[in-house]
Amino acid sequence: MTKPWYNKGLRFACTECGKCCTGEPGYVWISQREIEEMAETLQISVKEFIQQYTREVDGNFSLREFPRTYDCIFLRDGKCLVYKARPKQCRTFPFWPENLDSKDAWEKCANRCEGINHEHAPVIPLSKIRENLEEM
Ligand code: SF4
Ligand code: SF4
Repeated sequence: MTKPWYNKGLRFACTECGKCCTGEPGYVWISQREIEEMAETLQISVKEFIQQYTREVDGNFSLREFPRTYDCIFLRDGKCLVYKARPKQCRTFPFWPENLDSKDAWEKCANRCEGINHEHAPVIPLSKIRENLEEM
């Protein structure tokens, strides 16, 4: 099996800057279990959560975003209101297939994500990167 270009791991630590939670329109897909976990974090019912914070797209749920800024509905003063219960899509960023496709793609992502190559960040080993990829 050929080794990926990030075989020796990648330096990353999330600073919780919130830049990946805004900027352009998009979808944060959420499962039923994630809905339940976030509702519990906010101490509201699942029904309320769905009404207030989600939109349905082709039978799937995504978090709402603010018009014009495209901030995620949970982004407040640059921080995530549900950080500990944030969805898999958020937890696995930036280790998404499109960002790991090539070194160039990773460096391009680093322009947006200050946690990549951060001076205080540890090197995330290949095994952990693969775990994230498999989760996605
Ligand atoms: S749920 Fe939190 S981490 Fe995910 S996009 Fe929204 S604000 Fe960002
Ligand atoms: S842009 Fe990077 S450092 Fe900032 S919140 Fe997102 S993952 Fe964390």
